[in-house]
Amino acid sequence: MNSAARKKISLVAPFYNEENGVFAFFERIEALRLHVQDRYDLEVVAVNDGSRDKTLEKLIEAKAVWSFIKVIDFSRNFGKEAALSAGLDHASGDAVVPIDSDLQHPPEMVIEMIQKWEEGFEVVLAKRTDRDTDRAVQRVTANYFYRLHNSISDIDIPADVGDFRLMDAKVVEAIKALPESRRFMKGLFAWVGFKTTTLEYKVAAREHGHTSFNTWKLWNFAIEGITSFSSVPLRVWTYLGFAISSLAFLYGIYLILKTLFFGIDTPGYASIMIAILFTSGVQLIGIGVLGEYMGRIFAESKRRPVYIIREIIS
Ligand code: UDP
Ligand code: MG
Repeated sequence: MNSAARKKISLVAPFYNEENGVFAFFERIEALRLHVQDRYDLEVVAVNDGSRDKTLEKLIEAKAVWSFIKVIDFSRNFGKEAALSAGLDHASGDAVVPIDSDLQHPPEMVIEMIQKWEEGFEVVLAKRTDRDTDRAVQRVTANYFYRLHNSISDIDIPADVGDFRLMDAKVVEAIKALPESRRFMKGLFAWVGFKTTTLEYKVAAREHGHTSFNTWKLWNFAIEGITSFSSVPLRVWTYLGFAISSLAFLYGIYLILKTLFFGIDTPGYASIMIAILFTSGVQLIGIGVLGEYMGRIFAESKRRPVYIIREIIS
Protein backbone atom coordinates (compact mmCIF):
# COMPACT_ATOMS: atom_id res chain seq x y z
CA MET A 1 0.00 0.00 0.00
CA ASN A 2 1.11 3.55 -0.69
CA SER A 3 2.50 4.77 2.60
CA ALA A 4 1.81 8.44 1.82
CA ALA A 5 -1.91 7.69 1.85
CA ARG A 6 -1.75 6.06 5.27
CA LYS A 7 -3.30 8.04 8.02
CA LYS A 8 -1.97 8.28 11.51
CA ILE A 9 -3.96 7.97 14.73
CA SER A 10 -2.45 9.46 17.90
CA LEU A 11 -3.57 8.30 21.30
CA VAL A 12 -2.84 10.68 24.16
CA ALA A 13 -2.59 8.91 27.50
CA PRO A 14 -1.86 10.70 30.80
CA PHE A 15 -0.10 8.61 33.47
CA TYR A 16 -0.07 9.50 37.15
CA ASN A 17 1.13 6.78 39.52
CA GLU A 18 0.09 3.97 37.19
CA GLU A 19 3.19 1.73 37.51
CA ASN A 20 1.16 -1.49 37.71
CA GLY A 21 -1.06 -0.59 34.80
CA VAL A 22 1.50 0.46 32.19
CA PHE A 23 2.04 -2.92 30.57
CA ALA A 24 -1.59 -3.97 30.74
CA PHE A 25 -2.47 -0.72 28.97
CA PHE A 26 0.03 -1.11 26.14
CA GLU A 27 -0.90 -4.74 25.59
CA ARG A 28 -4.45 -3.62 24.84
CA ILE A 29 -3.11 -0.80 22.64
CA GLU A 30 -0.94 -3.29 20.74
CA ALA A 31 -4.06 -5.38 20.07
CA LEU A 32 -5.73 -2.25 18.71
CA ARG A 33 -2.69 -1.42 16.60
CA LEU A 34 -2.66 -4.92 15.06
CA HIS A 35 -6.32 -4.55 14.25
CA VAL A 36 -5.94 -1.27 12.34
CA GLN A 37 -2.39 -1.60 10.99
CA ASP A 38 -3.49 -2.37 7.42
CA ARG A 39 -4.77 1.14 7.04
CA TYR A 40 -3.46 3.26 9.89
CA ASP A 41 -0.28 4.04 11.73
CA LEU A 42 -0.66 4.40 15.43
CA GLU A 43 1.32 6.40 17.96
CA VAL A 44 0.80 6.81 21.69
CA VAL A 45 1.87 10.02 23.37
CA ALA A 46 2.31 8.91 26.98
CA VAL A 47 2.56 11.82 29.38
CA ASN A 48 4.11 11.02 32.75
CA ASP A 49 2.48 13.63 34.96
CA GLY A 50 5.05 13.72 37.75
CA SER A 51 4.34 10.20 39.02
CA ARG A 52 5.94 9.39 42.36
CA ASP A 53 6.18 5.65 41.67
CA LYS A 54 7.98 3.70 38.94
CA THR A 55 5.65 4.79 36.12
CA LEU A 56 8.43 6.52 34.14
CA GLU A 57 10.72 3.48 34.33
CA LYS A 58 7.84 1.26 33.21
CA LEU A 59 7.07 3.62 30.31
CA ILE A 60 10.70 3.50 29.17
CA GLU A 61 10.64 -0.31 29.41
CA ALA A 62 7.41 -0.39 27.42
CA LYS A 63 8.91 1.92 24.81
CA ALA A 64 11.70 -0.61 24.26
CA VAL A 65 9.02 -3.20 23.45
CA TRP A 66 6.61 -1.05 21.45
CA SER A 67 8.28 1.60 19.33
CA PHE A 68 5.01 3.46 18.71
CA ILE A 69 5.28 4.99 22.18
CA LYS A 70 6.50 8.54 22.71
CA VAL A 71 7.12 9.49 26.33
CA ILE A 72 6.79 13.03 27.66
CA ASP A 73 8.10 13.39 31.19
CA PHE A 74 6.81 16.36 33.20
CA SER A 75 9.02 18.12 35.75
CA ARG A 76 6.29 17.60 38.38
CA ASN A 77 2.58 16.80 38.68
CA PHE A 78 0.64 19.39 36.69
CA GLY A 79 -2.71 17.57 36.67
CA LYS A 80 -4.61 15.67 34.04
CA GLU A 81 -5.75 18.75 32.12
CA ALA A 82 -2.13 19.86 31.65
CA ALA A 83 -1.09 16.33 30.68
CA LEU A 84 -3.77 16.25 28.00
CA SER A 85 -2.68 19.67 26.72
CA ALA A 86 0.90 18.46 26.41
CA GLY A 87 -0.27 15.30 24.65
CA LEU A 88 -2.27 17.31 22.12
CA ASP A 89 0.68 19.65 21.55
CA HIS A 90 2.94 16.70 20.73
CA ALA A 91 0.54 14.45 18.82
CA SER A 92 1.15 14.36 15.08
CA GLY A 93 -1.78 12.19 14.01
CA ASP A 94 -4.54 12.97 11.49
CA ALA A 95 -6.86 12.13 14.35
CA VAL A 96 -6.16 12.31 18.06
CA VAL A 97 -7.80 10.33 20.87
CA PRO A 98 -7.25 11.24 24.53
CA ILE A 99 -7.63 8.06 26.56
CA ASP A 100 -7.19 7.25 30.27
CA SER A 101 -4.24 4.99 30.95
CA ASP A 102 -6.10 2.99 33.62
CA LEU A 103 -8.09 1.06 30.96
CA GLN A 104 -11.40 2.55 32.07
CA HIS A 105 -11.76 3.69 28.46
CA PRO A 106 -11.84 0.59 26.22
CA PRO A 107 -9.15 1.03 23.51
CA GLU A 108 -11.07 -1.20 21.07
CA MET A 109 -13.64 1.55 20.80
CA VAL A 110 -11.16 3.58 18.79
CA ILE A 111 -11.95 1.26 15.85
CA GLU A 112 -15.58 2.41 15.85
CA MET A 113 -14.49 6.00 16.33
CA ILE A 114 -12.26 5.79 13.27
CA GLN A 115 -15.20 4.50 11.22
CA LYS A 116 -17.31 7.50 12.21
CA TRP A 117 -14.38 9.80 11.48
CA GLU A 118 -14.02 8.28 8.00
CA GLU A 119 -17.74 8.95 7.51
CA GLY A 120 -16.92 12.63 7.84
CA PHE A 121 -17.40 13.49 11.52
CA GLU A 122 -14.71 15.74 12.95
CA VAL A 123 -15.42 14.84 16.57
CA VAL A 124 -16.57 11.42 17.78
CA LEU A 125 -17.64 11.52 21.42
CA ALA A 126 -17.75 8.50 23.70
CA LYS A 127 -20.69 8.71 26.07
CA ARG A 128 -20.77 6.43 29.08
CA THR A 129 -24.06 4.61 29.44
CA ASP A 130 -23.80 3.95 33.17
CA ARG A 131 -22.00 5.26 36.19
CA ASP A 132 -21.77 1.98 38.11
CA THR A 133 -18.09 2.46 38.76
CA ASP A 134 -18.68 5.84 40.42
CA ARG A 135 -19.35 6.55 44.05
CA ALA A 136 -23.03 7.28 44.79
CA VAL A 137 -22.40 10.94 45.63
CA GLN A 138 -20.54 11.35 42.34
CA ARG A 139 -23.40 9.89 40.36
CA VAL A 140 -25.93 12.36 41.76
CA THR A 141 -23.68 15.41 41.69
CA ALA A 142 -22.41 14.78 38.15
CA ASN A 143 -25.99 14.99 36.94
CA TYR A 144 -26.64 18.29 38.73
CA PHE A 145 -23.31 19.65 37.58
CA TYR A 146 -24.09 19.16 33.90
CA ARG A 147 -27.54 20.67 34.33
CA LEU A 148 -26.32 23.73 36.23
CA HIS A 149 -23.29 24.19 34.01
CA ASN A 150 -25.21 23.99 30.77
CA SER A 151 -28.01 26.27 31.91
CA ILE A 152 -25.67 29.13 32.86
CA SER A 153 -22.78 28.74 30.40
CA ASP A 154 -22.22 29.86 26.84
CA ILE A 155 -21.46 26.26 25.88
CA ASP A 156 -23.20 22.93 26.41
CA ILE A 157 -21.05 20.14 27.77
CA PRO A 158 -22.73 16.88 26.78
CA ALA A 159 -23.59 14.88 29.91
CA ASP A 160 -21.56 11.76 30.70
CA VAL A 161 -18.99 12.51 28.02
CA GLY A 162 -15.44 12.68 29.30
CA ASP A 163 -12.14 13.33 27.61
CA PHE A 164 -12.34 10.04 25.70
CA ARG A 165 -13.16 11.06 22.13
CA LEU A 166 -11.69 11.17 18.65
CA MET A 167 -10.80 14.57 17.22
CA ASP A 168 -9.72 15.41 13.72
CA ALA A 169 -6.38 17.26 13.42
CA LYS A 170 -8.35 20.45 12.55
CA VAL A 171 -10.11 20.28 15.90
CA VAL A 172 -6.84 19.72 17.73
CA GLU A 173 -5.32 22.76 15.98
CA ALA A 174 -8.28 24.86 17.14
CA ILE A 175 -7.86 23.71 20.74
CA LYS A 176 -4.11 24.28 20.67
CA ALA A 177 -4.73 27.84 19.51
CA LEU A 178 -6.79 28.70 22.61
CA PRO A 179 -4.59 30.90 24.78
CA GLU A 180 -5.89 30.25 28.30
CA SER A 181 -3.55 28.66 30.75
CA ARG A 182 -6.26 27.36 33.10
CA ARG A 183 -7.47 24.54 30.92
CA PHE A 184 -10.82 22.86 31.61
CA MET A 185 -10.46 20.47 28.68
CA LYS A 186 -14.05 19.20 28.53
CA GLY A 187 -15.20 22.79 28.18
CA LEU A 188 -12.56 23.71 25.61
CA PHE A 189 -13.41 20.61 23.56
CA ALA A 190 -17.06 21.63 23.53
CA TRP A 191 -16.29 25.30 22.89
CA VAL A 192 -14.50 24.73 19.57
CA GLY A 193 -17.53 22.98 18.08
CA PHE A 194 -17.16 21.05 14.77
CA LYS A 195 -19.26 18.27 13.28
CA THR A 196 -19.92 15.86 16.11
CA THR A 197 -21.41 12.44 16.65
CA THR A 198 -21.69 10.27 19.75
CA LEU A 199 -21.02 6.62 20.44
CA GLU A 200 -21.94 4.84 23.64
CA TYR A 201 -19.77 2.67 25.85
CA LYS A 202 -19.65 1.13 29.28
CA VAL A 203 -16.93 2.39 31.59
CA ALA A 204 -14.73 -0.40 32.87
CA ALA A 205 -13.59 -0.63 36.46
CA ARG A 206 -10.03 0.45 37.17
CA GLU A 207 -7.71 -2.57 36.96
CA HIS A 208 -4.68 -1.29 38.84
CA GLY A 209 -3.93 1.54 41.24
CA HIS A 210 -6.63 3.92 42.42
CA THR A 211 -8.35 7.10 41.34
CA SER A 212 -6.65 10.40 42.11
CA PHE A 213 -9.91 12.35 42.14
CA ASN A 214 -11.51 12.53 45.58
CA THR A 215 -14.72 14.39 46.29
CA TRP A 216 -12.95 17.65 47.18
CA LYS A 217 -10.94 17.57 43.93
CA LEU A 218 -14.10 16.91 41.93
CA TRP A 219 -15.87 19.81 43.67
CA ASN A 220 -13.03 22.14 42.71
CA PHE A 221 -13.06 20.72 39.21
CA ALA A 222 -16.77 21.56 38.95
CA ILE A 223 -16.15 25.15 40.10
CA GLU A 224 -13.32 25.37 37.58
CA GLY A 225 -15.73 24.27 34.87
CA ILE A 226 -18.38 26.82 35.74
CA THR A 227 -16.06 29.78 36.27
CA SER A 228 -14.28 28.96 33.00
CA PHE A 229 -17.35 29.26 30.87
CA SER A 230 -19.93 31.38 32.68
CA SER A 231 -20.15 34.85 34.16
CA VAL A 232 -23.62 34.24 35.59
CA PRO A 233 -22.25 33.73 39.14
CA LEU A 234 -20.89 37.29 38.90
CA ARG A 235 -24.04 38.86 37.54
CA VAL A 236 -26.42 37.14 39.93
CA TRP A 237 -25.28 39.50 42.73
CA THR A 238 -26.69 42.52 40.93
CA TYR A 239 -30.14 40.96 40.93
CA LEU A 240 -29.85 39.68 44.47
CA GLY A 241 -28.72 43.15 45.53
CA PHE A 242 -31.75 44.75 43.87
CA ALA A 243 -34.09 42.22 45.42
CA ILE A 244 -32.74 42.70 48.92
CA SER A 245 -32.62 46.51 48.56
CA SER A 246 -36.23 46.58 47.36
CA LEU A 247 -37.38 44.46 50.28
CA ALA A 248 -35.34 46.61 52.67
CA PHE A 249 -36.92 49.75 51.16
CA LEU A 250 -40.45 48.42 51.66
CA TYR A 251 -39.61 47.31 55.16
CA GLY A 252 -38.15 50.78 55.81
CA ILE A 253 -41.38 52.47 54.73
CA TYR A 254 -43.33 50.10 56.93
CA LEU A 255 -41.08 50.94 59.91
CA ILE A 256 -41.38 54.69 59.32
CA LEU A 257 -45.17 54.56 59.08
CA LYS A 258 -45.38 52.30 62.08
CA THR A 259 -43.19 54.67 64.12
CA LEU A 260 -45.22 57.70 63.00
CA PHE A 261 -48.56 56.18 63.90
CA PHE A 262 -47.75 53.94 66.82
CA GLY A 263 -44.50 55.39 68.23
CA ILE A 264 -41.29 53.58 68.91
CA ASP A 265 -41.30 50.22 70.53
CA THR A 266 -37.66 49.74 71.50
CA PRO A 267 -37.19 45.97 71.46
CA GLY A 268 -35.72 45.28 68.02
CA TYR A 269 -32.80 43.06 68.88
CA ALA A 270 -33.94 40.03 66.90
CA SER A 271 -34.79 41.88 63.69
CA ILE A 272 -31.54 43.89 63.76
CA MET A 273 -29.46 40.78 64.34
CA ILE A 274 -31.18 38.93 61.53
CA ALA A 275 -30.76 41.85 59.14
CA ILE A 276 -27.06 42.27 59.98
CA LEU A 277 -26.21 38.58 59.87
CA PHE A 278 -28.18 37.88 56.72
CA THR A 279 -26.91 40.81 54.68
CA SER A 280 -23.32 40.40 55.80
CA GLY A 281 -23.49 36.69 54.94
CA VAL A 282 -24.83 37.52 51.49
CA GLN A 283 -22.10 40.10 51.01
CA LEU A 284 -19.37 37.67 51.98
CA ILE A 285 -20.65 35.10 49.49
CA GLY A 286 -20.64 37.81 46.83
CA ILE A 287 -17.07 38.76 47.68
CA GLY A 288 -16.12 35.07 47.57
CA VAL A 289 -17.48 34.75 44.05
CA LEU A 290 -15.64 37.92 42.98
CA GLY A 291 -12.49 36.43 44.50
CA GLU A 292 -12.96 33.23 42.53
CA TYR A 293 -12.97 35.15 39.25
CA MET A 294 -10.22 37.50 40.34
CA GLY A 295 -8.08 34.47 41.12
CA ARG A 296 -8.64 33.25 37.58
CA ILE A 297 -7.67 36.64 36.13
CA PHE A 298 -4.60 36.64 38.35
CA ALA A 299 -3.58 33.16 37.21
CA GLU A 300 -4.12 34.01 33.54
CA SER A 301 -2.32 37.34 33.79
CA LYS A 302 0.89 35.63 34.87
CA ARG A 303 1.08 33.91 31.47
CA ARG A 304 2.84 30.90 32.93
CA PRO A 305 3.15 27.81 30.75
CA VAL A 306 0.54 25.09 31.32
CA TYR A 307 3.25 22.47 31.96
CA ILE A 308 7.02 22.01 32.01
CA ILE A 309 8.67 19.06 30.29
CA ARG A 310 11.79 17.48 31.74
CA GLU A 311 12.40 15.25 28.75
CA ILE A 312 10.79 13.92 25.61
CA ILE A 313 11.75 10.34 24.79
CA SER A 314 10.71 9.60 21.23
N1 UDP B 1 -4.04 11.56 35.84
C1 UDP B 1 -3.01 12.45 35.53
N2 UDP B 1 -2.66 13.41 36.44
C2 UDP B 1 -3.30 13.57 37.64
C3 UDP B 1 -4.37 12.66 37.93
C4 UDP B 1 -4.72 11.69 37.01
O1 UDP B 1 -2.42 12.36 34.46
O2 UDP B 1 -2.93 14.44 38.41
C5 UDP B 1 -4.42 10.52 34.86
C6 UDP B 1 -4.50 9.10 35.41
O3 UDP B 1 -3.26 8.43 35.31
C7 UDP B 1 -5.53 8.46 34.50
C8 UDP B 1 -6.46 9.62 34.15
O4 UDP B 1 -5.72 10.81 34.41
O5 UDP B 1 -4.98 7.97 33.29
C9 UDP B 1 -7.74 9.58 34.96
O6 UDP B 1 -7.44 9.61 36.34
P1 UDP B 1 -8.23 8.73 37.40
O7 UDP B 1 -8.41 7.34 36.90
O8 UDP B 1 -7.53 8.92 38.69
O9 UDP B 1 -9.62 9.49 37.44
P2 UDP B 1 -11.10 8.85 37.34
O10 UDP B 1 -11.07 7.85 36.21
O11 UDP B 1 -11.35 8.23 38.66
O12 UDP B 1 -11.96 10.04 37.05
MG1 MG C 1 -9.84 6.30 36.04
